[in-house]
Amino acid sequence: MKRYSRQMLFAPIGKNGQKKLQDSTVLVVGAGALGTVICNHLVRAGVGTLRLVDRDYVEMSNLQRQMLFDEQDVKDAVPKAIAAKNKLKQINSDVTIEAIVTNVTGENILELIETADAVLDGTDNFATRYLLNDICFKENIPFSYGGVVGSRGMTAFFIPNQTPCLRCLINENAEGGQTCDTVGVISPAVDIVSSLQVTEVLKYLTNNLHHLRNTFFTFDGWYNQTYNMKFSQPNPSCLTCGLHKYPALFKNNQQEETVLCGRSTVQIHRRHSMDLAYWSKRLTAVATVQQTPFLLKVHFDEGIQFAIFPDGRVLVQGTEDIGKARTWYDRYIGS
Ligand SMILES: [Zn+2]
Repeated sequence: MKRYSRQMLFAPIGKNGQKKLQDSTVLVVGAGALGTVICNHLVRAGVGTLRLVDRDYVEMSNLQRQMLFDEQDVKDAVPKAIAAKNKLKQINSDVTIEAIVTNVTGENILELIETADAVLDGTDNFATRYLLNDICFKENIPFSYGGVVGSRGMTAFFIPNQTPCLRCLINENAEGGQTCDTVGVISPAVDIVSSLQVTEVLKYLTNNLHHLRNTFFTFDGWYNQTYNMKFSQPNPSCLTCGLHKYPALFKNNQQEETVLCGRSTVQIHRRHSMDLAYWSKRLTAVATVQQTPFLLKVHFDEGIQFAIFPDGRVLVQGTEDIGKARTWYDRYIGS
């Protein structure tokens, strides 16, 4: 317990709070900019179990802000969830860390959320955020939302039956516009948002409920603005927390093709599994193939790359044009 002495000295947490943290399981979806900072804090703070899900692998452009990764992870093309787990294990070997390399969908979210006491948003897209919001409100689990664009961040901590939900605050049809694609991001903004996300979760898990912020907080660290909007009453006609319809769980949001934020990449997910050894052999004739324990990287001469994952996903890199990606996929993998 010596490891946590400073945290236990902090009166609102104390020994009891520390014990509560150790008994907790948290789900973090996304091991990118927000997710790596979130996991770093949670693991150092001593949560019992951290379940981390991410669909991508580490690339050079991640290192500017994704705090758990280094150049070796880039060289080895390690999936982010695995690379994060490797670092986190060195930081605190007492925490049980479950690293899962997959895409979060309406099909697997219930299994992923099982036994979680809180869910933290480390994603970069609203489709997944609404999915997390809906499953959390359906299963009565708190949801810590965070988002960053440029130097601007926003965060809120939602508790089912007590606060409004993400859908009450941000209209599904209004989202869009700026993404990390077009305006970039600075890493301090990421740190601030993810640290606030974790702070609320620590309050919640240690039963300091009266100190929860209960606001939608936004700031811009570059242009020096902050805005702290007190939660209003939940919207009675909200499809999630008002009418309990949870549309994201039923909507066909498992699109076969998804453009990944700022990555010049299209993800195609048509199969349930892919045998890396088989595809390595098959594609060697037409491309340069690199096989790791977790994925297959396939470099074609024309500047297109595939990353093939055992869960059946193929990332087509070098284009954001879904039609073009589909053509490549059909040519080499087949429909
Ligand atoms: Zn709502």
